[in-house]
Amino acid sequence: MFFKGLAKHPRFKKKGKHDSFTIDNCGKPIELNGWNHKLPFIGIVKTYEPIEATTKKITISKQAGDWYLSCSYEFLGTTTAKKTDVIGVDLGVKTLATLSDGKVFKSVKAYQKFEAKLSRLQYLNRHKEVGSANWKKAQLKIARLHRKVANIRKDALHKLTTYLAKNHGIVVIEDLNISGMLRNHKLAKSIADQGFYEFRRQLEYKCEWYGSELVVVDRFFPSSKTCSNCGHVQDMPLNVRTYDCPICGLSIDRDLNASINLRNAVGSVVNACG
Ligand SMILES: [Zn+2]
Repeated sequence: MFFKGLAKHPRFKKKGKHDSFTIDNCGKPIELNGWNHKLPFIGIVKTYEPIEATTKKITISKQAGDWYLSCSYEFLGTTTAKKTDVIGVDLGVKTLATLSDGKVFKSVKAYQKFEAKLSRLQYLNRHKEVGSANWKKAQLKIARLHRKVANIRKDALHKLTTYLAKNHGIVVIEDLNISGMLRNHKLAKSIADQGFYEFRRQLEYKCEWYGSELVVVDRFFPSSKTCSNCGHVQDMPLNVRTYDCPICGLSIDRDLNASINLRNAVGSVVNACG
């Protein structure tokens, strides 16, 4: 409560900016496994990333209305049985990923879906007084929507990277020249949507978790331009969705062809080494 004309608004310790608390299970270890966690004093908590850890302290914080969980732990990997030795993964624009065994992960158009809603919120917020209660309310709404989009995207990537790391001995991906591709504005949005950096980050730690190897092929490797059957090389503009080889007659989906080339790139190295 403040009195008009006497003073400015009293300064409270800002609530909502850095809300956090720490759970210390009286020194006893807390087990975290998978997506759902039973925490002391709190109960079941669901996380967006799977966590496998034993820890003694968990810090829970709030940002943009969402809760975050952090802890320190010692890494203990669990190697899973692999059903395929080597898999090539082509990250696409039209599809999220195409694997060299023909499996396809559909793309998540998270941004497109929520973009209209987001820009409308931003438009409605344009005349609100900065710092006012209504402005704060709207800012929180916008932040939550951003978070929602990011979470949908992350969730799709987690499904893909967990599947890859768990079931394959060697996962071969391309080192994409993202900054170069982002200069191409038509592609930029779609690529940002797919979250290539996030894909690689997740794959790196999950391959370590599940005992598989991640191989990143040089971005100058012509995975899209090379015929996966005979090795013929030809130009492949982005709008050409099928690879038609004039030499051996192979006609194959562009992304599948690229993923097979990525798989083969490592296959030959593995064989050469004995
Ligand atoms: Zn060919």
